[in-house]
Amino acid sequence: MTAAAPLETLAGLFDAPVSRADFDRHLMATYAPAAFVPVRASGLDVWDQDGRRYLDFSAGIAVTSLGHCHPAVTQALAQQAGQIGHLSNVYTNEPVLRLARVLTGLTFADRVFFCNSGAEANEGALKLARRLAYNRGDTQRQTIVSCTQSFHGRTVFTVSVGGQPKYMEGFGPTPQAIVHVPFNDLDAAAAAMGPHVAAFIVEPVQGEGGVTPAHKSYLEGLRALCDQHGALLIFDEVQTGVGRTGHLYAHQAYGVSPDVMTTAKALGNGFPMGAVLATEAAAAGLTVGTHGTTYGGNPLAGAVALQVLREVTHPGFLEQVRERADQLAQGLEALVADHPALLASTRGMGLLRGLVLGGAQAGKSAAWVKQAQDAGLLVLAAGPDVVRLAPALVCTAAQVDEALALLRQVAQARARA
Ligand SMILES: *Cc1c(COP(=O)(O)O)cnc(C)c1O
Repeated sequence: MTAAAPLETLAGLFDAPVSRADFDRHLMATYAPAAFVPVRASGLDVWDQDGRRYLDFSAGIAVTSLGHCHPAVTQALAQQAGQIGHLSNVYTNEPVLRLARVLTGLTFADRVFFCNSGAEANEGALKLARRLAYNRGDTQRQTIVSCTQSFHGRTVFTVSVGGQPKYMEGFGPTPQAIVHVPFNDLDAAAAAMGPHVAAFIVEPVQGEGGVTPAHKSYLEGLRALCDQHGALLIFDEVQTGVGRTGHLYAHQAYGVSPDVMTTAKALGNGFPMGAVLATEAAAAGLTVGTHGTTYGGNPLAGAVALQVLREVTHPGFLEQVRERADQLAQGLEALVADHPALLASTRGMGLLRGLVLGGAQAGKSAAWVKQAQDAGLLVLAAGPDVVRLAPALVCTAAQVDEALALLRQVAQARARA
């Protein structure tokens, strides 16, 4: 414990310079951030405290899809902040009403619940699934089926549903009636179904788990299984949504509609924002008083998300994403072909791509991320074996070429190491 600072030192507390070392001193050690501290960003460029520039192919983990400090998004936020910023859900507001109309107009959904993050969206979707069965008097229908290697957030319910036991360790007792089956294995899914299943939740492309797309036949099969067994099909599109895959939502490319879908990350381009979308029938799970949040759907988040969707649905925008995605995928394939001893394969969908490390590089994604940083390129890991790329959707052909050249440099250095 440290003593509270005397009042006369307050100016120092607020205004003295900070550095990366302050993280280790004052923040809970839940993260191990990079050695540099970004201070400014624009588009895909990020600058640190020393003025060094990085090319950002991580987009804040598939969040800043329109690039950093997108002028129209900044403008929408500032305008709304100066008009009416927060009200609580005791009142509704114009931005959120317009946003709900847009989201339901653009998707399968009839109704929306707004929240502040991906985990909260999934928590809401899972609560909805159980509560819907309960509302119908179907009280034995409680089981949630999910996939191994999946990721659905960090609340106790969502880590329990997520398919990575390490995130659940030590937080028990955890919620019951959760079953895990291998991803892309329809027989395993079928074996897990029955009258006790409230919902099957799945990411169309597993993001954190290694950038693994679902097979079309898998999602089609899950749709049929859920219909057959009276369970809800929930798509977690927190990472794949809002244009990331070259389609507004990934399931639209697959031609399979869920009963419930969660979206967050890119929906706010960095402003905390999440939503649960549902059909009219599924939305009956959440009625007055059953669920809520202080900030969810506040005017600021509403105005920002509305502007984000305006940009992403602009004619030609998603075609452009698919063109850049093809360029990136081809470049990564060439890289894999040139470094068979280091790289096993590349996979993904749209501008969410994974580079699967092979041979002696397996398990070394963190070292690749660090080495890319040192070369001036920001990328992500997706598990120990996969380097993940998720650039802003507005990346140019030249920026894709620059990223590929930097990755090639990293691969060459790793080959020598
Ligand atoms: C990031 C992510 C989440 C969690 O979102 P938070 O905003 O971090 O709570 C959930 N599901 C998927 C698929 C994600 O990628």
